[in-house]
Amino acid sequence: MDLTKIRKDFPILSREIYGKPLVYFDNGATTQKPRCVVDAIVEEYYSVNANVHRGVHFLSQQATELHESSRETVRQFINARSTNEIIFTRGTTEAINLLAFCFGEEFMKEGDEVIISTMEHHSNIVPWQLLAARKGISIKVIPMNDKGELLLDEYENLFSDRTKIVSMTHISNVLGTINPIKEMIATAHAHGVPVLVDGAQSVPHLKIDVQELDADFFAFSAHKVYGPTGIGVLYGKEEWLNKLPPYQGGGEMIQSVSFEKTTFNELPFKFEAGTPDYIGTTGLAKALDYISAIGFDQIMEHDRELTTYAMHRLKEIEGMRILGEAEHKSSVISFLVGNIHHFDMGTLLDRLGIAVRTGHHCAEPLMRRLGIEGTVRASFGLYNTKQEIDSLVAGIERVRKMF
Ligand code: PMP
Repeated sequence: MDLTKIRKDFPILSREIYGKPLVYFDNGATTQKPRCVVDAIVEEYYSVNANVHRGVHFLSQQATELHESSRETVRQFINARSTNEIIFTRGTTEAINLLAFCFGEEFMKEGDEVIISTMEHHSNIVPWQLLAARKGISIKVIPMNDKGELLLDEYENLFSDRTKIVSMTHISNVLGTINPIKEMIATAHAHGVPVLVDGAQSVPHLKIDVQELDADFFAFSAHKVYGPTGIGVLYGKEEWLNKLPPYQGGGEMIQSVSFEKTTFNELPFKFEAGTPDYIGTTGLAKALDYISAIGFDQIMEHDRELTTYAMHRLKEIEGMRILGEAEHKSSVISFLVGNIHHFDMGTLLDRLGIAVRTGHHCAEPLMRRLGIEGTVRASFGLYNTKQEIDSLVAGIERVRKMF
């Protein structure tokens, strides 16, 4: 991977923060954007912009073509069977809310169960709790060991004849654990239960093939995969999506409306009420093209190298405690050093130009399981380097000596 060339694609990386070169290690929260993504967005606003789907005029048709070709790019990227299976949402959060709402409406009643895991982001906990409050369903949680690996035997034991869906993360945004999602989907299917995969952290790092995984639903956000904010995807198998009721009502999602009765549009539009973020979808498609051109073999190798190097270097630091040491681990590293509060560490590293995230990372139940309030988290992207990891290690050493 030509890192010098890649880094040049991201203008923000040449910024200085407090007079120090920016070291951006907050990719788990959001990634930076390559110039081609921003250019595509600007270009579409300047020369194509028109509302999609309903227009007979040239610009509207061109905007519609761009929007629908972005759907095809997403389809290819995750290897869905059909563009009918690609629903555009505002992001992972909206995708999970959409599914929890629609699936819950159609298939769940009081006493039914959803299985989630200990390491879920709040966005894969709270929508199910809202459903629990509305319908009286209950939530079962897959436990994990101290390394941050889910206990698969316990998972198997959670299934009952009331289990209606499993909803779980592919990669933990705190621990970096890569869950054995294919195996876990097969287990659920053996019980006749569908699975929603939260792919927010996996799409930037792993080659996703929804057919190979046999995922029933799969959610991700563009902004974590070098694309724009405010746009994301819910993939769903067509046979499932056809059975679900709509999420929101409005334009685009209808076939015909009278005051007495409305008939709904076909897939994927049934789930896309209102004017879609058709410029966002162009940005998303550009981002996916960008990382596809680099290639996942290279991205995964780079991730592995950075993670192995960072784990090794960080462990040399006195008082270092790494949270999440799963055998299969992505390039997300959470840590604490001695008694230094995560917030102090993050604030002082920031003064050295190093952007890390601190806090509970929207995973408070996981923090409780770990017996801590928060961590410092460094998460890597395709433009990060070993020298930047050296800067992080030197920065932590400096902070440590101050305390
Ligand atoms: N799930 C996971 C695992 C995440 O890391 C995040 C973002 N931190 C989300 C869901 C929510 O994504 P978004 O805020 O883009 O909807």
